[in-house]
Amino acid sequence: MTDCLFCKIIAGEIPSTKVFENDKVYAFRDIAPQAPTHIVVVPRTHIACANDITPENSKAVSDIFEAIPAIAKEAGLEKSGYRIVNNCGADAGQTVMHLHFHILGGTTGGKMY
Ligand code: 5GP
Ligand code: ZN
Repeated sequence: MTDCLFCKIIAGEIPSTKVFENDKVYAFRDIAPQAPTHIVVVPRTHIACANDITPENSKAVSDIFEAIPAIAKEAGLEKSGYRIVNNCGADAGQTVMHLHFHILGGTTGGKMY
């Protein structure tokens, strides 16, 4: 999608600090980290938010979760642990309308439930 921030990051039109990539998934450091380690994981295909996941495109979600162990290992989080967060829509505070999962680690704080 031409006017999507994360599509532009995936395309390299906006710089990012890459943590991991394969042909389906791109992961990069969040520009405003909310934990000592804060990584954003996105599918290369544009899906706006969790509301738009369908049987036709849901493999994007399993592609992300299959990549997460390698991302966590690369970030040194696999033993200490981490949270995986998705915000969907206004009340959740979603600010970028391209499906993404936050990986947050390096702290025991921030648990919301
Ligand atoms: P959301 O609030 O939609 O769940 O998450 C969007 C995330 O994208 C935020 O944590 C925000 O800091 C991050 N973000 C926004 N713009 C940029 C950017 O240009 N580069 C990077 N690396 N992260 C960004
Ligand atoms: Zn996009």
